[in-house]
Amino acid sequence: MNAPDMNGTAAKSVVKQGYARPLDLRHGRVDMSHGGGGRAMVQLITELFAKHLGNEYLAQGNDGTCLPAGQGRLVVSTDSHVVSPLFFPGGDIGSLSVHGTVNDVAVMGATPLYLTAGFILEEGFPLADLVRIVESMATAARGAGVQLVAGDTKVVEQGKGDGVYITTTGVGFLPDGVHLSGDLARPGDVLLVSGRIGDHGVAIMSKRENLDFDAPILSDSAALNGLTRAMLDSGAGLRVMRDATRGGLAATLNEIAHQSGVGIHLDEAAIPIAPAVDAACELLGLDPLNIANEGKLIAVCAAADGDRLLAAMRAHPLGAEAAVIGRVVEDGNRFVQMQTRFGGRRMVDWLSGEQLPRIC
Ligand code: MG
Repeated sequence: MNAPDMNGTAAKSVVKQGYARPLDLRHGRVDMSHGGGGRAMVQLITELFAKHLGNEYLAQGNDGTCLPAGQGRLVVSTDSHVVSPLFFPGGDIGSLSVHGTVNDVAVMGATPLYLTAGFILEEGFPLADLVRIVESMATAARGAGVQLVAGDTKVVEQGKGDGVYITTTGVGFLPDGVHLSGDLARPGDVLLVSGRIGDHGVAIMSKRENLDFDAPILSDSAALNGLTRAMLDSGAGLRVMRDATRGGLAATLNEIAHQSGVGIHLDEAAIPIAPAVDAACELLGLDPLNIANEGKLIAVCAAADGDRLLAAMRAHPLGAEAAVIGRVVEDGNRFVQMQTRFGGRRMVDWLSGEQLPRIC
């Protein structure tokens, strides 16, 4: 399904001519015909996807979508979402598939404008759940100021999928003069995080393992493009921004250390973490530094601009708990090390295995 299938012209005529009854979005289920390229597929697209996600671009009705270019260079990022469970405290696969890709474009310093989405649906999946997911995507896209401009739907036989997988691609534009990259961290720079870490991974785990906490831990899934805009507008000498998703803070910082050929010293006491998340990690035997976030970013900036950047982040709702958590040091070994709360020092390494599969 390309843009023309979401156009709906064909489907309208199908419905008008009485070839099809409206989809039973309450009790119906996805069946193989919904991916078959025929009337059933057009109906699913028209009555569900285009209804919630439609816009002037999707309505063009051609094999590809023609879009106005923004100012500056093009930035593109793509991400597949296989999170399990599909619905979790604080979000679902629909909102996550928008936020994850918007954030990857945003942390490049770009303004995300467009999204494409590919859906792989499993035969038998309840249409009511699909409606919830698509509505959630639409809300997330509106909130982030991006439009879905092309899409595709495929259906696989029962037992060969896991409900829904969603791949999204984001397109944004990077203003001239903005250059952020993982290889730009320099000794002396300061390192900031936009807020509490670990919420997303623990929210998923608690749902998966049926764990009850006094207060439910919610995923932090959120679009960060407003925050990144505020950070860029602060005029601080930003060198790197990166969202700390799969692999958590530890993976993100090791990536930067390796790309830039530097070491990083973290201060554990400065890293914001919710007490409930800390306690849950203890219980589950997880290290919060390895846990995925879906609404947090880390930033590296020139030391002289650290205060200015921190103030700009804290002035934004999604950066209210931002903190300086460490600094970049000269280190040929490119080690990430942490001063612990107890005064010791430990290495912060990449995970060697998979601590939390299907977290996003
Ligand atoms: Mg990323």
